[in-house]
Amino acid sequence: MSKSNVLVAGAGIAGPILAFWLSRAGMRSVVVERAPELRTAGQTIDIRGVGFEVVRRMGLEELIRSRTTREQGIAIVDASNRKRAEFPVSLPGGGQGFTSDIEIVRGELVKILYESTCNSNNVEYVFEDYITSIKDHGDRVEVGFAKGSVREFDLVVAADGMHSKTRRLVFDGQSSLRPLGQHVCYFTIPYHESDGTWARWYNAPGGRAILLRPDNLGTTRAILAITSNSSEAYEKLDVKAQKEAIHKIFADAGWEASRVLSAMDAASDFYLQEMAHS
Ligand SMILES: Cc1cc2nc3c(=O)[nH]c(=O)nc-3n(C[C@H](O)[C@H](O)[C@H](O)COP(=O)(O)OP(=O)(O)OC[C@H]3O[C@@H](n4cnc5c(N)ncnc54)[C@H](O)[C@@H]3O)c2cc1C
Repeated sequence: MSKSNVLVAGAGIAGPILAFWLSRAGMRSVVVERAPELRTAGQTIDIRGVGFEVVRRMGLEELIRSRTTREQGIAIVDASNRKRAEFPVSLPGGGQGFTSDIEIVRGELVKILYESTCNSNNVEYVFEDYITSIKDHGDRVEVGFAKGSVREFDLVVAADGMHSKTRRLVFDGQSSLRPLGQHVCYFTIPYHESDGTWARWYNAPGGRAILLRPDNLGTTRAILAITSNSSEAYEKLDVKAQKEAIHKIFADAGWEASRVLSAMDAASDFYLQEMAHS
């Protein structure tokens, strides 16, 4: 009997993990990624609960632990940088803090997951391509790709993220995403002495928040959040216009906002996203 052949759309977090387990089960997979290379942008991701069990069973726990940010916790600070509350990694009584004991920069995790699968004979990665058509013939799926090829698979899995185009292709353009009334932008800035080894979270009036998280790569990950019920279409703006909007919103936010805003102008990995739930 021939091996099952699975098409996975997206080489982010879920795609390579699925390819890993399919390979372990003796199945072949093709992972198609729309970007020309791995997308390694992003801030820290905490691995806990089921996620922890998955990486442990993949045999990746030690490697992942060796590349964590080693953030010691999150401190809530006021405009004068005074600590108002502290949430260390391990809470008294064994509870979970905001910072997990495995806190890893997304790009590091993406690389580890890719590297754990890319040399497998059962896994083929295809970059800079994506699915444009899917025909389900019952016993096989015929898939058309943007670059013109047509291939057949036993199964297609959409792991192409929150705004999955593949899911929309199959479910007639429907989206089950529910906006949560918050826009968040992420970017990397130079490390400053005040960043220390704790993440610092500052809430400014008007539903604005700044979170600064030092990483293990000598930089600091900045997260700026705006909470509002307005239907501002920030995501539709280009990056330059998004940065201008963020400048205006945070201009009088206080604390270290001016340092963060100047560094944002130079950040090449800036991206803005509306928080949503499916
Ligand atoms: C650049 C980036 C930065 C992020 N930063 C953070 C963060 O800092 N903190 C956090 O908690 N979450 C972040 N996320 C979201 C986070 O990765 C996901 O919420 C979560 O990890 C789920 O991962 P996923 O594999 O489902 O999707 P993702 O990690 O989003 O990966 C999806 C992959 O699919 C690719 N793709 C998109 N469309 C297609 C298509 N049509 N065909 C083929 N491939 C396609 C994307 O390029 C991406 O590589 C980020 C996502 C991205 C893409």
